[in-house]
Amino acid sequence: MDTLIKNGLIITADGRFPGSIAIRNGQIAGVFEPGAEPEAKEIIDASGLAVLPGIIDMHSHHRQGSAKGFEYKDTIHTATMQCAAGGVTTSVGMPNVTPPPNSVDLLEKQFAIYHSDSIVDWNFNPAPTIANEMPGMAATGIAAFKIFMVVDTGRDYPHMPGIGMHDHGKLLEIMQRCAELNVPLMVHPHDQALMDVIEQTYWARGERDALAYAKAYAAHDGVIWETAIATLLRLQRAAGCHLHILHTQTAGSVQLIREAKAAGQKVTCELNPWALFLGCDWGAIQRLGSYALSYWVPEKNVPGLWQGVNDGTIDIIATDHAPHTREEKEIGWTDGWKAHTGTPSTQFYLSMFLTAALEGKLPLERVVEACSTAPARLFKLDKKGEIRPGFDADLVLVDLESEYEIRDEDVLSLVGWSPYAGRKVKGKPVRTIVRGRTVYKDGKVIGEKGFGKQAKASAPARAAKAA
Ligand SMILES: [Zn+2]
Repeated sequence: MDTLIKNGLIITADGRFPGSIAIRNGQIAGVFEPGAEPEAKEIIDASGLAVLPGIIDMHSHHRQGSAKGFEYKDTIHTATMQCAAGGVTTSVGMPNVTPPPNSVDLLEKQFAIYHSDSIVDWNFNPAPTIANEMPGMAATGIAAFKIFMVVDTGRDYPHMPGIGMHDHGKLLEIMQRCAELNVPLMVHPHDQALMDVIEQTYWARGERDALAYAKAYAAHDGVIWETAIATLLRLQRAAGCHLHILHTQTAGSVQLIREAKAAGQKVTCELNPWALFLGCDWGAIQRLGSYALSYWVPEKNVPGLWQGVNDGTIDIIATDHAPHTREEKEIGWTDGWKAHTGTPSTQFYLSMFLTAALEGKLPLERVVEACSTAPARLFKLDKKGEIRPGFDADLVLVDLESEYEIRDEDVLSLVGWSPYAGRKVKGKPVRTIVRGRTVYKDGKVIGEKGFGKQAKASAPARAAKAA
């Protein structure tokens, strides 16, 4: 054996047990009971540590595109450094980079940056806005297409032309093509017609700051989200594609998705850390303004979100990592609509969910399942998300005991701040391993640029459907 990770507490989606993991040629060669381990060239002592399958983040805004754009917020190198430090071994990028990949040519240019710069394994979700480019993009092993259900506002950020689609007829066509290609469609749900009316009521009163923005997005119990989700679910029923709804954040949304699943619809969804640990705290929004947004999630939604993630209605946890500079957030104190939306999240979200698990909000096994095993299964990522012989040796060793404080000075994103600074959490990643190679250890990223490979969606699953 090349490596033996010895005497850890192995935690999988199915349970926890003391044991050792043998690694050969970057893959898991076996899992052994204490005392039954094989010999290995390298021994990693995991005594006192938990060993989890590496985290798979299906929703991260990596910022760097093939032309100059938003790389001052994060590059693929800095984004994947945060992954390594946060226990994330596979990270999936989103299409709002410059230029937004919505063709085979642009997608391959995007892939080239990951090939040269990514520390961890990766994939990238292109936008399905050009019909005849979709089959070619599907053939590259992408995990999903991603569309923002937004009107093209002519702004360059966050939704530049080529990645948004609000028109229901066109959304239906996109879903039908996704069904034919057997590629999941991720959708950012939004109803702009409702938002136009809601915004006007705030603006007419002269309310434009970050707090007004937060209230507008949460207006009428999240009507802009739930109306959009209801529409998407109905279109899915017509098209039959795998619909994956992004950033589920109201209890009503969870209920709509629960009913669709009960009716047998092929729908899945995600939850983001900001919904449970930031956006639900009005005090935090008042204190942090635009630094706290993504969106306001009034606290009454929180029990429904925890219930959803516990009972599996919410399938996966992903970050929606979206770093912005302080300058882009400061303007929110006077105009919340001008501030860029989103928060950096990759580096600390595993710790936050492990802390919640240790507080009894969900089982540790469910954290593993929602953050790693379920994403790999739902998006057919080959040999990812499980601690099993033949799977990639993507692992994270975490210390569940010692507490640490999230601090701005430790943030590896170029933006240099975290909305969670000052919080004390447990479950610190102490070592992250990608395909048998240590990329993070004892507080230092040691992974090399270009080591990361595309975590491809398995070709047989695609071919079977196409045939
Ligand atoms: Zn996002």
